[in-house]
Amino acid sequence: MSPAHQLPLFSASGAGTDPVVAAPASSPSPPAAASRTPPRRDEVLDKAQGLAAQLSRVLGATVRLAVTDNRSTMVSFRRNPSGLQLRLHHMFLDAPPHVVEALADYAGRGRRKAGAVLDGYIRERDGHIRRVRTRDERLQPLGRCFDLRELYARVNAAHFGGAVQASIGWARTPARRRRRTIRLGVYEHASREIRIHPALDDPRVPAWFVEFVVFHEMLHQLFPSPAGAGRRQHHPRAFRERERTFPLYEAALAWEKENLPWLLRARLP
Ligand SMILES: [Zn+2]
Repeated sequence: MSPAHQLPLFSASGAGTDPVVAAPASSPSPPAAASRTPPRRDEVLDKAQGLAAQLSRVLGATVRLAVTDNRSTMVSFRRNPSGLQLRLHHMFLDAPPHVVEALADYAGRGRRKAGAVLDGYIRERDGHIRRVRTRDERLQPLGRCFDLRELYARVNAAHFGGAVQASIGWARTPARRRRRTIRLGVYEHASREIRIHPALDDPRVPAWFVEFVVFHEMLHQLFPSPAGAGRRQHHPRAFRERERTFPLYEAALAWEKENLPWLLRARLP
């Protein structure tokens, strides 16, 4: 989890006057950080000012708005004699007019019913954010001990003439104490992705064994399971024959059998 970061506070006073942007209340960020990503930050600040001004106009009161990245509290506010203090998740910077109106009702006028509109907006946008995030989660091939991309490239060149087209990374597995079986690798046809079990990212595991697992998963691209094979990945005869051409095939099977007990118990990062 990344720490929530907060943008400086902005004040906008309503009651017929133009919104006034106060000096940032929090300590300003160093210029270097600001210049690294100027457009995005500027855009966010512009939108925050705009939203604060809009709410201020609607409510006829001073609105101090803080924009956060904190997903645990999407909307929080405090009303006091000097105006409305509002903390919002940045998703609200793109809110359509009826949601802005609901924000004003909910936080500024104490109309709790307006909360339903905000909930709906959060639900709608939350799904969107999650989808974007999933796409951004690239496969991570670099482990503590092995760079899977390197092993993959070596296996592809040595055994497939570079013909296999897949991406590869370490699998993320839920932390489960006791495992009775372990899937050392998985190949997903739809995305052409190979995922290798993180228990293998261990100094006790020889690189050639990881290469064997990668080799096995690459074979799945060449020998897809026949239709109707169900959820379990099937290994056709041709697959098995080709698998045996791996130079250390026998050694790999023996190594797996011998080391399975601690692989099953391996504590994962
Ligand atoms: Zn398999």
